[in-house]
Amino acid sequence: MIIADHPTALRQYLAGVKQKRIALVPTMGCLHAGHISLIHKAKCLADIVVVSIYVNPLQFGANEDLDNYPRVFEDDAAICKAEGVDCVFHPHDLYPEGGAKITLKVHALDNMLCGASRSGHFDGVVTVVSILFNLVQPNIAVFGEKDWQQLAIIRRMVSDLHMPVEIIRSEIVREPDGLAMSSRNRYLSPAERQKALRLSQALYLMQNDINIGGKAINIIDVGMDNLKKHQVSPEYLEIRHALTLKPENTITSQSRIFIAAKIGNTRLIDNAALFPQTMTNEATP
Ligand code: AMP
Repeated sequence: MIIADHPTALRQYLAGVKQKRIALVPTMGCLHAGHISLIHKAKCLADIVVVSIYVNPLQFGANEDLDNYPRVFEDDAAICKAEGVDCVFHPHDLYPEGGAKITLKVHALDNMLCGASRSGHFDGVVTVVSILFNLVQPNIAVFGEKDWQQLAIIRRMVSDLHMPVEIIRSEIVREPDGLAMSSRNRYLSPAERQKALRLSQALYLMQNDINIGGKAINIIDVGMDNLKKHQVSPEYLEIRHALTLKPENTITSQSRIFIAAKIGNTRLIDNAALFPQTMTNEATP
């Protein structure tokens, strides 16, 4: 496995594998089973797997956890090696000295859910992902459904900017008790970890209480009541169309539930199809 810590080293490596089908798995490191599932998918679909590990300052707001974000590169590199990754791209910085002066701006799909409270977050995400696509020039790139809104925005970027890369989505990997895996879970104290479980529990409860044509607000009330009972006040708990992310007042087969909540100082997100069994490719962002 090659570790490239600079774009030049990455280019040198890629020059030697030009004819091969390349998959990129962009990450911010602190790898867990969720990331590993993306690597597995990438390995199935390509000859060469490049994993990028870069904590992108551009996608963090002023009061967010950029400085504290867990950085455990030695562990991450060992995981990548064990999983048969071909190249880890781990640049010190991706922006010119003095900061990025040219960036991308998202004008759709970002004024709700996480975008509503994290101003500029998705601009930072698409900027770094486009830089990574330019550097690696992958045939495919794999992203997790855990960040559903991000997935939708990246698909839109690739389509609007005619980027020659296929976006592959990968299912959410959960702890055995249902908590969606996240690098941020390691911030949680044991008591907070218990409380965090209420997010996925609310989603499951809502899934159990649906019927097509029913009112979304009634299902949201089911989730909200349960969260309230356990002293969790979500930043949002919403039912939206999986593809357009527009709010749905009436439940359809494409309805998806989205939740974000701060548990202590840790902001967690999760999402789920309301009808997992009837999910179709139509509902793919
Ligand atoms: P991050 O390192 O948090 O930026 O995530 C890198 C990629 O891993 C993104 O495409 C995430 O959606 C994906 N990812 C993170 N957690 C999970 C999970 N629990 N299941 C599946 N994919 C995940």
